[in-house]
Parts: sequence; structure tokens; C-alpha cells
Amino acid sequence: MTVEFLGTGTSHGIPVLACSCPVCRSPDARDARYRSSVLLRGDADEIAVIDAGPEFRLQALRAGLTRIDTLLVTHAHADHVHGIDDVRPLCRRKPVRIVGDAECIDELRVRFAYAFSPRQAGGGVPKLDLSVAPSSGVEIGHLVAIPVPLLHGTIGVLGWRIGAFAYLTDCSEIPESSYAILRGVSVVVVDGMRTKPHPTHFTVERAIEEAERIGASRAFITHICHDHSHAELEKICSALGTRCEARPAHDGLVIEI
Ligand SMILES: [Zn+2]
Ligand SMILES: [Zn+2]
Ligand SMILES: [Zn+2]
Repeated sequence: MTVEFLGTGTSHGIPVLACSCPVCRSPDARDARYRSSVLLRGDADEIAVIDAGPEFRLQALRAGLTRIDTLLVTHAHADHVHGIDDVRPLCRRKPVRIVGDAECIDELRVRFAYAFSPRQAGGGVPKLDLSVAPSSGVEIGHLVAIPVPLLHGTIGVLGWRIGAFAYLTDCSEIPESSYAILRGVSVVVVDGMRTKPHPTHFTVERAIEEAERIGASRAFITHICHDHSHAELEKICSALGTRCEARPAHDGLVIEI
């Protein structure tokens, strides 16, 4: 399986609108970050995407995406789901399957109510097949995506585990029971928004500690804000990762699992 980072930015994206800080003006392409999302391509050509934020169309064009077997969602914050309308060209033949936790799926029915009760024929609405993730996992061809409950401040969100890979974004706590679900993961993507503490996100340091507690050999930081450049984060991560190889992710990065 390969994992392509479609976006690695926090909710504002980088550059941040109206910000002129050095990171937002950086000429390093790795400092430009769309909202966080990954594209998974399985060995039998399964295509899954985790989250579809406001830049989904641009991300999908850049990645050459022509279909989605399943869209896995982590939670219903705008930066993770507000690109869902843009799946329209991908659901001409059949609806796009979207899987999340019960709260998120209920929220999507409200947020995209127009998709479920179109007012007139011919109006362009996405065909969405929403379902709640069973704890046993979601089959996507030969892949099985297992939901991993996480805490994002006080709200429950889902991480996803697919084989030896796990994607844990928008989290400030991993509940004790979720470590068992993550046992055996070797490559983990973790929310490490910045080095300063934040009430609803891990710091870079905590993200790497969590990757090491999980036992991963490689950790990629995502959902990154404009406090540090990519080059600075590379140094910070390699100094912090003692039992795993830790790096910041960047948009367009492809990793082999
Ligand atoms: Zn977010
Ligand atoms: Zn900035
Ligand atoms: Zn969030």
C-alpha cells in the first residue's frame, strides 16, 4: 500500500490568509500546506481517502484521483469535511461511500442535507452513501480500515488503522483502550500541530512520544501550523525521536507501507 499526503496543514492551511510571517512567505514548497488528508492506494488498486477538506478538488487533481472506493472521515470539523461536495464527478455511477462515527455521520446528514432531499431534478448534488463504522472495521477490497477512538479536546473523533499503518489526526489524547487497537502498527501519522501546547491537539513532542509508545518505527507529523518551517520541524523531530524515525510530513509526500 502507498500513502500520499494530500494535505498536512492545520485548519487554516498555510499560507494563512492575511499572514505575512516567514513560514507563510516561505519559498520552500514544503511550507505550503493544504488541509490535512491522505490518499491510500492498496496493492489491489483499492482507493481510500481519509478526510475531504476545503481543498479536496485541488488535492484530487494534483494526485490524479479518478475514483474513491471509500472516504473515511475522522470528524466533522470544517477542515476535514467541507470538500465533500466536490466528490460529485466521482459518484456518477454509484454513490461515494463515506464512513465515520455515529456523531460525525449524523452531522454530515445535517451539513449536506441538500444532498439527501434535492429540491429539483438536475441540480448537482453529491450522491453520498453514509454509514457508521463498525468497530470490527470497514472492508475496502482487501484492505480493512479499523476505527481508532481518540479525543480531540473533549470530543470523540476517529483515527484509522489499515494494516501496519495508522492515521491519528486532531487528537489531544489516545484513550487507554485504543492502544490495543494500535498494537503492531509500524508507520503512524500523528497530529503535531505545533511545539506550544494546544487544548485540542498534540504538540510535536507529544506526537512523537505517542508514536514511540505505540511502538512505531516511523512517525510522520501532520496538521501543522505556521509556527515553524518544514526545515525547522525536521530538526526538531529528529532530535525528539529516539526510538523511532520522526519527520514532518509535507503535501505530496508518498510513503510505502
Ligand atoms: Zn483539523
Ligand atoms: Zn503565517
Ligand atoms: Zn478538528
